[in-house]
Amino acid sequence: MSFGDIIGQEELCERLGTTIGQTVAQSFLFTAPAGMGKHLFADELARSLVCSNPTKSGGCGKCDNCVYFKAGTHPDVRRYETDKGKKSISVATIREDLIPDTAMASQIADRKVYIINIGNIELKYQNLLLKVLEEPPRGVVFILLCTDASLVLPTIMSRVVEFKMRPYTEEEIFKILSKHNEADLPEDKLRFFSSFSAGIPGKGLTLMGDEDFISEREEVFELLLKIPKRDYAGLMYEDFEFFSSRQDRISDILLLMMWFLGDLSSLLASMDTKGIRNTDKVDRMRAFLSENKGITLKNMYNASEAVTAFNRDVKARVNFEAACCTMLLKMKKEFT
Ligand SMILES: [Zn+2]
Repeated sequence: MSFGDIIGQEELCERLGTTIGQTVAQSFLFTAPAGMGKHLFADELARSLVCSNPTKSGGCGKCDNCVYFKAGTHPDVRRYETDKGKKSISVATIREDLIPDTAMASQIADRKVYIINIGNIELKYQNLLLKVLEEPPRGVVFILLCTDASLVLPTIMSRVVEFKMRPYTEEEIFKILSKHNEADLPEDKLRFFSSFSAGIPGKGLTLMGDEDFISEREEVFELLLKIPKRDYAGLMYEDFEFFSSRQDRISDILLLMMWFLGDLSSLLASMDTKGIRNTDKVDRMRAFLSENKGITLKNMYNASEAVTAFNRDVKARVNFEAACCTMLLKMKKEFT
């Protein structure tokens, strides 16, 4: 792995490449939402910092340092993600482990690198790091990570070189997913996951291996197609139950519904399948439209509005049952 092998984030790779060749600033911070690959970049930067013959594209991959790093046993690269079994890094870990460790000399490399998820340190305890960040012991480099700069004290922000990550394009995510396509999913499914990830490759990678999500997508689709024939009890009990039991993932479920409705509208408006997101469902969707000839574009628009309103209500913490049943009844009205 080197910066050149990383898909996307070209500007960031360029900046990192330049950084490696220079007299190194001693503290860096990567800010990006979860799933953007911060750890990948932090790792590659760490490897180039300990490598004996680094180039602009990262570590050489051959020296002892690179070999130890790859095996995960480099003694001069220390990671602080959370305390074992906890969700944060404690004061004790900072005071009794991390800070004293920075005072000890490196063992193999010319530098010691600390990869620290600063987002997992409470703001009031981040102050403990100020002194080492301001005057790091010779040869010590800090690579900090966080999902959002608001999780980091301004006094720390002023002492680090910040690397921001931009959202990935759909095409870049598609390339990343293709590279990790162990289950050999067909291209149309990969395209679907790429666009569902909304710029965050980690989301696509999680979803493509998530059997629950894959079967839920099928269930959402079936549920939608059944609405014209559904009776009141079916809507209020079975369909409601489907949403009610998935409240923790409701935003993904509603997004799936919006996409199916969007595709149905596109197919209703034109024979062209350009822009269709659920390409594997085109035949079923066309069959649905020919069985339900009375459904107009206006009906589709109103059905989408009902889903949008439900989504808004969920976010506003309106009574879930009332909001969900309202959506289902509105959709039934539009589809009949
Ligand atoms: Zn090397």
